[in-house]
Amino acid sequence: MNKLFRKVMRIGKRLSKKNRFAKIKPLLMMGFSIILITFLLADSTLSVFTVSINGKSMGQVRNKNQIYTLVDSVEKDLSEKFGTEATIDEQMISFASTKVKEMEPLDEDAVIWELSKSENSFLKSWVLSVDGKRVVAVNNEDKANQLLNAITKHYMKDGSHYLSTDFKESVEIHEENVHSNKLLDYEEALRVVLTGTSEIKEHQVRNGESFWTIAEKYQIPIKTLEAANKAIDPEKLQVGQKISLVIPKPYLTVLTTEEAIVSEKINFSTTYEKTDSLHEGEEKVKLKGVFGVKEISTQVVRENGEIVSTEVLDSAIVQEPSNQIVLLGTKAIPSSLGTGALDNPSRGTVTSAFGRRWGRLHAGIDIANKKGTPILAADGGVVTFAGWRGNYGLLVTISHGNGKTTLYGHCDEILVSQGDVVKKGQTIANMGDTGNSTGVHLHFEVRVNDVPQDPLKYVEYTVN
Ligand SMILES: [Zn+2]
Repeated sequence: MNKLFRKVMRIGKRLSKKNRFAKIKPLLMMGFSIILITFLLADSTLSVFTVSINGKSMGQVRNKNQIYTLVDSVEKDLSEKFGTEATIDEQMISFASTKVKEMEPLDEDAVIWELSKSENSFLKSWVLSVDGKRVVAVNNEDKANQLLNAITKHYMKDGSHYLSTDFKESVEIHEENVHSNKLLDYEEALRVVLTGTSEIKEHQVRNGESFWTIAEKYQIPIKTLEAANKAIDPEKLQVGQKISLVIPKPYLTVLTTEEAIVSEKINFSTTYEKTDSLHEGEEKVKLKGVFGVKEISTQVVRENGEIVSTEVLDSAIVQEPSNQIVLLGTKAIPSSLGTGALDNPSRGTVTSAFGRRWGRLHAGIDIANKKGTPILAADGGVVTFAGWRGNYGLLVTISHGNGKTTLYGHCDEILVSQGDVVKKGQTIANMGDTGNSTGVHLHFEVRVNDVPQDPLKYVEYTVN
């Protein structure tokens, strides 16, 4: 309209300069009329675009750029928020050209809200696929690779020597545009791949709780709880500790092959030498044996930390064992030492008799009393052993001649030494509970030619 007005004015000016005003007066009048009509018309109709997003009306604009400016700013905001390139899907925006008297203004807030919706924008992302199935998407390629490293490391132990690591499944990272609700942050993506879910279901252990009470509380089998918490010892629950209630179903299987070197002891052999410098039944180590060492190198293959195969690669003797030499006494025990009859070796009550007990032979009797109660030699003889022997704890053995020996186990303290000649009734030790013992007592044995006899056939006790 302005153009036309200016043109008319210009013509007017030109004509007036040439002093022909009169001639062009009707023309001028006509021009003014056109301008007037045009302005009147312009006032009553406006050319606008009605903007719709996904079919929803958002108001009107005179210039489409007003919408594209908003698209740019939302894309910028989303890019900043998600740390990756965001693109609004412009196909959902439609414009309908129309003429109106009065323009319905654009609802900018509604437009921004609509454009920002997850389903209306695409984010440049890197998707981890397992056997062709999309599992997680993260916002940059380094993170996606870091994710694979962290998953592998999750099943590796410090100090192990790994020969190789791999995934059982085919794994691929590719670039793809995804909606923002599909994009995960790094920690969440890691959790999804490792556990098969983004859900966290945990229970915090309270005072007095056990796996059994927790399983009962959530109505889940105890086996589920154990499988979900393999790294936790159910016997050692601590207050405040977090127990997972979900069995992990990892998307990936990490295959690790490690080389493990195990040391194994090699037993030494023992040879015996007879000597008359020791009494019958007495033994003395002449040369201590030394265990040998064997190193075995194995290849262990694991799937997600669980061993699936073990193969011996090599074994080598690092140290040969060396032989032990033991002296065996041959000197006869003087028959004058033993009277042949045995006295009670200690005051106390018999709490366990000779015979089969829990499927095993109880080769003696147990005499219980206070710690420190004196233990007496049941008859005269020679001490053939005085020291620690396995389950017996501190043990004294006495040979009385004619193949008869007595044994005194679980002593607190030993008062004699090997080779000592002892008299009947002499204090040889104090009662204790050393070795495999339940409570203070004397374990007393009588043997004839090393065959255990029922001591109650030799000594007199009131049996409880
Ligand atoms: Zn016993």
